[in-house]
Amino acid sequence: MIRFLILFLLTTSIFASQVERYRWNNAETYLDFLENNNLPVKKLYYNLDKDDQRLTEEMRAGIHYQILKSKNGNIEQILLPLNDELQIHIYKDKNSYVFEAIPIISTTKTEAFYTTITSSPNYNILKETGSKKLAQIFISSFKHSLNFKNDIQKGDKLVMIYDQKYRLEAPFSMPTLKVAMIETHHKKHYIYLNDDGRYYNEKGHEVEGFLFARPIPGARISSYFTKHRWHPILHKWKAHLGVDFAARRGTPVHAAGSGTISWCSRAGTYGNLIKIRHADGYETRYAHLKSFRRGIYRGRHVKKGQIIAYVGTTGRSTGPHLHFEVRIHGRAINPLHIIQITTKKLEGKQKRAFIRLKKNYDESVNLHLNNKTHYKKPPPFENMGYIHLLTEKNNG
Ligand SMILES: [Zn+2]
Repeated sequence: MIRFLILFLLTTSIFASQVERYRWNNAETYLDFLENNNLPVKKLYYNLDKDDQRLTEEMRAGIHYQILKSKNGNIEQILLPLNDELQIHIYKDKNSYVFEAIPIISTTKTEAFYTTITSSPNYNILKETGSKKLAQIFISSFKHSLNFKNDIQKGDKLVMIYDQKYRLEAPFSMPTLKVAMIETHHKKHYIYLNDDGRYYNEKGHEVEGFLFARPIPGARISSYFTKHRWHPILHKWKAHLGVDFAARRGTPVHAAGSGTISWCSRAGTYGNLIKIRHADGYETRYAHLKSFRRGIYRGRHVKKGQIIAYVGTTGRSTGPHLHFEVRIHGRAINPLHIIQITTKKLEGKQKRAFIRLKKNYDESVNLHLNNKTHYKKPPPFENMGYIHLLTEKNNG
């Protein structure tokens, strides 16, 4: 049986329905949400399988979600984004509600702006764009190479070029920086996103960010990170928000970075779980552990590389392996993008490719610098929603 899933983007006024936008509250759980909206808890949570239940735990404070209501106020559809690729869709089918996880349809636009410093990069980026995220990205990009207090002065100029995702014509998710430039004391400083997904300065040296080590040195990766993937047997959308390392039961697990243990106990499908809180809002998670190392407990500070636990298969796991997650401000990111093997210095063929990429970026930056490109404000929110159609066809 082939399942056709079609999502249309329409102005819902045609259907005399109303789309309401909300922000997910701090400390609100998915179960709270169902209860507050008088939705059937059994059908939409307790009857779900473990994987879907776990997806519901991914709702985070600050996320914008939508409720489509009929004219008389009944809930017709709900869209709860879990990350920038997957969302929970609850919809009314005849007289009952249905739960499903579906991909988010989004478009990506490359955007750019220029600003002159009158106070500080943080102040002026915020003033120009109104986006804390852009200010945060800029500051963390240059924090190892510039001293914001002493190096930057009034009249300095900066340009940022980045990718922004849009869903229902509203921007969402963290922008991806492609190039940032700040001109100070008549010298231009750059950060470039290379084709390998890492950031480099104008010399082709990798920019030091917050980098983690592998929790099991040399271990083979048995499953990669994905924000959404179609499961061909279960016929549903799932996510794998970490990386699995294959290893024998009892293999030592090392702290990927220095930090404080914030969880060291059992946690549902994770089995025995350790969470470490690091600087800059980062957190690492180590799941399915056989046991914790002696002397490792909640509140304890650990150093990068220190042994914290041993590989096992506790919780929802089919065999001994380490499930490893990296989160920033609660949001799961691909651990392999920030695992340090060595700090890279591009050479040879890679360096030549980087120089070509850099030349294109530099031309764009100069263009925005000369044009003094203003930040383009996104259009105001329209009464838009998804209209969901499901058709099933028998195949042979
Ligand atoms: Zn896993």
